[in-house]
Amino acid sequence: MTRAEYFAAKYPPVSADPQQGYWLDFRVSAGFAHIVGGVHSGDECPNCEKPLLRFLSLDTKDERLFLRNIPVPHLPLLFCWTCEIAQNDFVYRVEQGGTVKLIDYGLGPPAGDFPYEDYPDQFPEHRVDLQAIPERDQDIIRAVMRAMTTSETRGIRSAASHSYGSRCAMI
Ligand SMILES: [Zn+2]
Repeated sequence: MTRAEYFAAKYPPVSADPQQGYWLDFRVSAGFAHIVGGVHSGDECPNCEKPLLRFLSLDTKDERLFLRNIPVPHLPLLFCWTCEIAQNDFVYRVEQGGTVKLIDYGLGPPAGDFPYEDYPDQFPEHRVDLQAIPERDQDIIRAVMRAMTTSETRGIRSAASHSYGSRCAMI
């Protein structure tokens, strides 16, 4: 059994596979409550013993994201940069009240100054809108994402770091 097969059997995914990607627009908040930064409620990073970093919290009512069947009002996208939590499957469940419960994660000691000295535990909370990425730009982003799998191009990861779209799977 491959890792992907194991993962799919253990955590049957609710697939959101939007073909349209979106840039985060910080200029104005629209009718949906998409939020960058801030804090989530629930489990902390077990390696660093601090809150997981919330990059984005998506308003599941926004039909552009195909998240309407998810029974929570917000889907937080969480990570921890300062340890190896994502060196294994990084899986969490968002419970009815919005609390996050970790299911699977990598173990490892916290890093010293990664990704840089005094990396914050959270970023300021800010409402954002989603702006559709033009098809031509999406093609460029997809090419960059494919290229990221080669060691020669790891330095360009940040080029596609602030968008939502492409492929994701949620449980
Ligand atoms: Zn951590």
